[in-house]
Amino acid sequence: LRIRAALGVVSVGLLITLSASTLTSTPAASAAPVAGAPGVGDPYYPFAGNGGYEVSHYDIRLTYQPATDQLSGTTTILATTTEELSSFDLDFGLHTNSVLVNSVPAAFHVDPAENGELVVTPDAPLAAHQPITVVVNYADTPSKVVIDGVTAWIKTPDGALAVNEPQISQWWFPSNDHPTDKATYDIAVQVPDNVAALSTGTLVRTTKTRAGWTWWNWRSTQPANTYAMTLEVGAFQVNRATTPDGKPFVTAYDPAAGDSLDAAKASVERTPEIDAFLASQFGPYPFEAEGGVVTRPVLGFALEAQTRPVYDSRFFAAGSNTTVIAHENAHQWFGDAVSLGRWSDIWLNEAFATYGEYLWSEHEGEGTAAELAQFGYDSHPAEDPFWQVLPGDPGVAKQFDSAVYDRGVLGLQALRTTVGDDAFFTILRTWVAEHKGGSARINDFIALSERISGKPLQELFTTWLFTLGKPAAGPNGPGAA
Ligand code: ZN
Repeated sequence: LRIRAALGVVSVGLLITLSASTLTSTPAASAAPVAGAPGVGDPYYPFAGNGGYEVSHYDIRLTYQPATDQLSGTTTILATTTEELSSFDLDFGLHTNSVLVNSVPAAFHVDPAENGELVVTPDAPLAAHQPITVVVNYADTPSKVVIDGVTAWIKTPDGALAVNEPQISQWWFPSNDHPTDKATYDIAVQVPDNVAALSTGTLVRTTKTRAGWTWWNWRSTQPANTYAMTLEVGAFQVNRATTPDGKPFVTAYDPAAGDSLDAAKASVERTPEIDAFLASQFGPYPFEAEGGVVTRPVLGFALEAQTRPVYDSRFFAAGSNTTVIAHENAHQWFGDAVSLGRWSDIWLNEAFATYGEYLWSEHEGEGTAAELAQFGYDSHPAEDPFWQVLPGDPGVAKQFDSAVYDRGVLGLQALRTTVGDDAFFTILRTWVAEHKGGSARINDFIALSERISGKPLQELFTTWLFTLGKPAAGPNGPGAA
């Protein structure tokens, strides 16, 4: 969520726009070993992800020195080839020292024609459908690394933040960076004793093996998107607790949040209550831990890091804000458990998380979903550019436009109006149950909605997601005020 959406203030524009360069190579159709494709074929980001293999697990083991922004260490990738490979790519922007494939040194180079991806050429071609182990050793200063004109890694006075969407992993670990290839993670980061190293999943342990330094070991046991993995280093206040239903609940606050600190705590500490409410609407909470991290006012948005969303402290500048907590935690179901199949499907993330805000508002007695949707519809006159963005295919530059959230959510309210509450919530819960751990597309959601409701719905979705201009009837139907 961008700060603008929650506070009504001017947006801190940190939107990432990647140039849509064209592909320069295509896989050969022969049975001979091929170079793995430099992308999965996502039209918004042609170089996102790679062809030829699928990752099951990342083991990230790093040392980070805030004083110099030096990040070094090793990422070990467990993957399986999907074809016979002469070489394959990793999405990565840091300086690589060495690469091993199945314990054998591999050649590697950075390919400027492939958006600076790391091309790995094993000693001998890799057979199809075989497990491989790739060990990448690296060291760099991430704040100096520019990819597509952007540095997503944020250096702070006492640490750093690796938090962004759609791309952040290139600044701290090599990966197959696309939501269609989810994996589990072990993340261990050694930092000076005076700072914390926060990430996602369960904090397995903290340990000291040399004077002045502490290891922070995190584990995510459910498949996760690369962009939903985050790292926050700094002098955070860390609270370790347990949710009423027994899950680890780790929260952390940067004291530099200043005046917003208490309001931030009064919001984030309600996460287990909010997740329990959302579970009553969407089905069981999908992961093994809950939490939240509040950063100093430098991020410009909030992000649905899996199990532990990250919030810019400015979300809490005017007092408690459980709307943003509901939004990022609704993403645990919609975006994290069920991931988008292509980046153009961003409606599946942002409209659904915004609907989570609406349901929470209704639960809190602060306005029903129908009221909030009607207000959104009424407050944008037909000539507002708001209606000139397609929530179902907004384009790279408008991927996180308010229309994706606030027009997109009207499509969900219109669906609820059309199919009724029983079918609507059955659709949401079935969607999560059927796609949890994987990824899916808008057309899959339309098909599921038709299957469960028994109604033809193509026209409804075309109107709300794929047609420019303000729909004639509001989200609560033609008869609604
Ligand atoms: Zn969101």
